Amino acid sequence: MELYFQEKPTSNQWWDWRWQLAHGARTLEEVSAYLGVSPETLGGRRGQEAYPLFVTPYYLSLAERPTLQDPILRQCLPSDDEVSCQAGGEADALGEEEHSPVPRLVHRYPDRALLVTGNLCAMHCRHCMRKRDWGRALLPLTPEELSQVVSYLRRNPQVREVLISGGDPLMLPEENLRRIVGALSAVESVEILRFGSRVPCVLPQRITPRLAAILASGKPAWLACHFNHPRELTREVQAACDILNRAGVSMVNQSVLLKGVNDEAETLGKLFTSLLRYHIKPYYLFHGDPIQGAMHFRTGLEKGLQIMDQLRGRISGLALPAFAFDLPGGEGKIRLQPEQCLGQDGTGAPLFRSWQGKTISYPQGCGE
Ligand SMILES: *Cc1c(COP(=O)(O)O)cnc(C)c1O
Repeated sequence: MELYFQEKPTSNQWWDWRWQLAHGARTLEEVSAYLGVSPETLGGRRGQEAYPLFVTPYYLSLAERPTLQDPILRQCLPSDDEVSCQAGGEADALGEEEHSPVPRLVHRYPDRALLVTGNLCAMHCRHCMRKRDWGRALLPLTPEELSQVVSYLRRNPQVREVLISGGDPLMLPEENLRRIVGALSAVESVEILRFGSRVPCVLPQRITPRLAAILASGKPAWLACHFNHPRELTREVQAACDILNRAGVSMVNQSVLLKGVNDEAETLGKLFTSLLRYHIKPYYLFHGDPIQGAMHFRTGLEKGLQIMDQLRGRISGLALPAFAFDLPGGEGKIRLQPEQCLGQDGTGAPLFRSWQGKTISYPQGCGE
């Protein structure tokens, strides 16, 4: 929707990430001024007191209606449910802090480790799994911390892939990011860098040829981005993806299944198939973690399975992500598939449920 500005931005300003950040909204009053409504119509005062708000004018402009029912505003504006509907939620549901062998590194799986580079983001996503970090000052990774991480990686050459996470690593100062990419790539056993970032979605203007060149300046670079709704795919995103593609950065997407945002097969089907046109492969659809302050977004695993079942066969297999969730206490991810096996027929041949719901037996050969 059209935003209200005291001074309407020029096209150059709109495409400038610094302008976007400088004009980001931090209060319900600022948001309601942009949207042209009274702060009371948005609600969420208690939510904002518990978890601060930050959103760029760009992201706000993707909204169609100035209410919390809008799938864009639901992801960026506080809701009182963040405080009132929190049974079962934890601060660190994934036990990240227990799996940290050196500061800033989470090493849970044999061949990959996750680096926390800071806690600055271009938006405060209301469903954030690291909401616990918002309140504390987590400064950008220092050179000393980086060299500790590098020596851990040298002692543990089974780590072939480093996930560069945050916060949002694409919000780091360029020199910082360049130093991190350089240091990790200098470790011989590190083969792949995987950046986790929502910048392509919430601040696509930040993706400049210079930034893309930094990402691509070391070991082969993958970028895991985070789009949740088809309305987030815009010409600004198209421009960002073109730059990343040209620089040789491969892209996948991790969506979170969010109640009232994207918990319908039609919405997700449109998102997943559209992402392919931007050269982004849908990788995961996550069920929401039991995080304090984000419980009201959870749908239940059954809902995700239903949606995956409605999508299988109907949209390109390339567009289908894995539906997954994280076990509590850092026990790792589980991928779930809708049940397609129906047991056996009278001859012992296995039976399957086709994507159209037919029961089909699979022929067995001799010797099986
Ligand atoms: C999710 C995660 C990974 C990556 O898992 P993939 O299945 O390879 O995407 C790695 N380390 C940690 C700590 C994670 O939470």
